[in-house]
Amino acid sequence: MNFRDEWVQCTVCDRQFVYTVEQQRSVHATGQTEEPVHVCRACGRGEEETAPERQMQLDPETGHWVGSVKWFDLDKGYGFIDRGDGTDVFFHRSGVVGHPSEFVDGQQVTYTIEETDRGLQAIEVRTFEG
Ligand SMILES: [Zn+2]
Repeated sequence: MNFRDEWVQCTVCDRQFVYTVEQQRSVHATGQTEEPVHVCRACGRGEEETAPERQMQLDPETGHWVGSVKWFDLDKGYGFIDRGDGTDVFFHRSGVVGHPSEFVDGQQVTYTIEETDRGLQAIEVRTFEG
């Protein structure tokens, strides 16, 4: 089963948040088959969301993650995105929207996450002027 980041509404506070591949996978692993109740992290903890020093950012326009190109090898056709929280994610030129030559080191991009047989992969990768 392939999971993909989903943009969902919190049933408690009605704010929109991203239901991540990691969360979907952990729910799936419990064998739960019903549609899960979507509760954002702040409501889940019963406290206000406080921003840690390094965290992933969302583009409010598209609901996609904002990151920066760590490196991209045009010849090999793949590279990695710095997610902003200290982790990186793989992306392939087939997941790039626009011309791959625009994806230079340090370029800000938006993307969404898909789980593939080989692990997490960024798709719908677009250049972003933040
Ligand atoms: Zn909430």
